Amino acid sequence: MRAVEAAGAEALLVTHGPDVRYLSGFTGSSGAVAMVGGRSALFTDGRYTTQAKAEAEGVRVVIDKRAPAVQAVEWMAAAGVTRCAFDAGQTTVAAMETMKKALPAGVRRSFFVAGSGLVARLREVKDEDEIARMKRAAELGCRMFEAVLEFVVPGATEVEVAAELEYRARMGGAEAMSFETIVASGERSALPHGRATGAKLPKRGFVTMDFGVVVDGYCSDMTRTVHLGRATDEAWDVYHSVLEAQEAAVAAIAPGVRCGEVDEAARAVLRRAGLEKEFSHSTGHGVGLEIHEGPRIAAKQEQVLKQGMVITVEPGAYLATRTAVGGGKALGGTKRSGGAFGVRIEDMVLVTEGGGEVLTSASPKVWMEL
Ligand code: ZN
Ligand code: ZN
Repeated sequence: MRAVEAAGAEALLVTHGPDVRYLSGFTGSSGAVAMVGGRSALFTDGRYTTQAKAEAEGVRVVIDKRAPAVQAVEWMAAAGVTRCAFDAGQTTVAAMETMKKALPAGVRRSFFVAGSGLVARLREVKDEDEIARMKRAAELGCRMFEAVLEFVVPGATEVEVAAELEYRARMGGAEAMSFETIVASGERSALPHGRATGAKLPKRGFVTMDFGVVVDGYCSDMTRTVHLGRATDEAWDVYHSVLEAQEAAVAAIAPGVRCGEVDEAARAVLRRAGLEKEFSHSTGHGVGLEIHEGPRIAAKQEQVLKQGMVITVEPGAYLATRTAVGGGKALGGTKRSGGAFGVRIEDMVLVTEGGGEVLTSASPKVWMEL
């Protein structure tokens, strides 16, 4: 509540699903939490009566026909609240209008104080129970990867590989995939977000698999890139540059380190290899109840890592065109002869007192030629 008071408010309204879950334990899709002083209440509708009572912890449960946010706002106004913080990044203009209409005319104009990421900031640092869940999710991801390798063969389609991964996820107890499974093969591996398609895996070329599961509400996220058939020297070099960058960034992780420094550790390796431009995204992101949450592991990010954060480290290099002229050592400074390809390697890392603990370490990152 300190952040709420700093924002000039005396209460907090939370409507974003993962934030509601974090504060109350309630997992239903329609809920709002109001916090006033030391009191919290969860508002939901009649469809969730049984679920809310079973799941809610440490909050009063209020069930009503009306929209949860409207109930919450009325409850706060009745309790004498005049200034309430809300997350501007998670509230639509339409929702705001509806909530304002529920307020007495006297307080309507000044009631809402825009804040952003008030609960998201709290969620960045995981407690022991959350870490245990995330470890289970990460370990399931590793088992899925090991099991899927026998299906990564020339002629199989990307969606078939994705299906094998997802079948094993479900059989291993996953509630859901944490995002749409990426299987990008051959020239499609040059697409950082190549969702699985009907494309057939080639006889020679990379296959990038980026996937995650949800276990007890918490997401996992990992990427492995393997090679089918004999690789070109260039492909081998690029893979090892990305691997070196990934390991350098993991090694840079410790409490007190700025997120930008972790990003730079990866970027510096790829810069030296002449692959700076080919690394076209940030190094990583926080993960937890949502697949993408804070902190951002990107260039110049001043936010400092704290013990208990779980972040991904996922540098990549994407060489898109066959006519591009190589810029550095890895490419020999000559015209590339091969087709487009890409490599990404991603681990989930827990920030511990002693540094970074890789949660996806059961899946090897060594060069794999299948
Ligand atoms: Zn990923
Ligand atoms: Zn990721």
